[in-house]
Amino acid sequence: MLVLGGAGDARALINAMAIQAMPVRVTLSLAGRTRDPGAQYDMDIDVAVRTGGYGGAGGLAAFIRKQAVVAMINATHPFAAQMANNAAEAARLTGIPLLRLQRSAWLPVTGDHWIDVADMREAVAAIGAAPRRVFLAIGRQQLAPFMAAQQHHYLVRTIDPPDPAISLSNAIYVAARGPFSLNDELGQLREHQIELLVTKNSGGAATYAKIEAARALGLPVVMVGRPAAPAVTETADVAVALRFVATACRLKQAHDGAPAERGE
Ligand code: NAP
Repeated sequence: MLVLGGAGDARALINAMAIQAMPVRVTLSLAGRTRDPGAQYDMDIDVAVRTGGYGGAGGLAAFIRKQAVVAMINATHPFAAQMANNAAEAARLTGIPLLRLQRSAWLPVTGDHWIDVADMREAVAAIGAAPRRVFLAIGRQQLAPFMAAQQHHYLVRTIDPPDPAISLSNAIYVAARGPFSLNDELGQLREHQIELLVTKNSGGAATYAKIEAARALGLPVVMVGRPAAPAVTETADVAVALRFVATACRLKQAHDGAPAERGE
């Protein structure tokens, strides 16, 4: 079983597979973007961890064939669009089943003031021309478009420090990894006198407190929508993903006529 990870969904799945002691060899595939993936994953879990890209869908398909992968779960972040496309194409090329596991997108509730945008360029435009104090909670990979709007004061929170080539002249950088509490987020917004939050619609609980904090303070939120994704079977439910794994195990055992070994 190949699990494409790099987000909390993969961690939840792998923990659940370990608890159920499923008879399957798991390889967890990480892009290697964050410096300390061990902080996200319980490395005591009996999985092989593979780090780095495959060189596109063809490379991923070659890996699947070479390792005799029987099924794949794409549990990457909802904004990892390239990997979602690669996974779909590699599954098509190899004929193995693919499931996408991703948390549901956040939806606005009463009291939210969301400005929905499609991408970071639209987010920059949505902030407006007049200088504002902006909390950029979008990760470190998509900060470059904000260099076109240097009139704003930015609070930039990322897990690892951003690329030094991205220079926002009027910015404070904070390195932190969620989950964040509502009190943390309220304190942050107040301390930096934030007027507007920019965030991706990542979904999930770990980073939702910033949305609640913005709501509590009556602040607008520029909400960047999820990128287009290939049409593959999808769930937000780890239990459904576990059933997918169980089915793949049964099919493999039926094919081999013997139980698959656990762990490697
Ligand atoms: P991306 O744009 O979809 O992928 C770019 C390339 O990175 C892929 O083509 C692939 O390289 C490699 N890659 C991505 N995920 C991989 C994985 N799980 N295992 C091996 N290679 C992988 O992805 P991204 O947005 O840069 O995200 C990279 C990683 O960070 C993902 O694991 C994602 O879950 C995580 N992450 C992303 C975000 C976000 O907002 N984008 C937020 C939190 C976490 P090859 O083509 O060479 O195979």
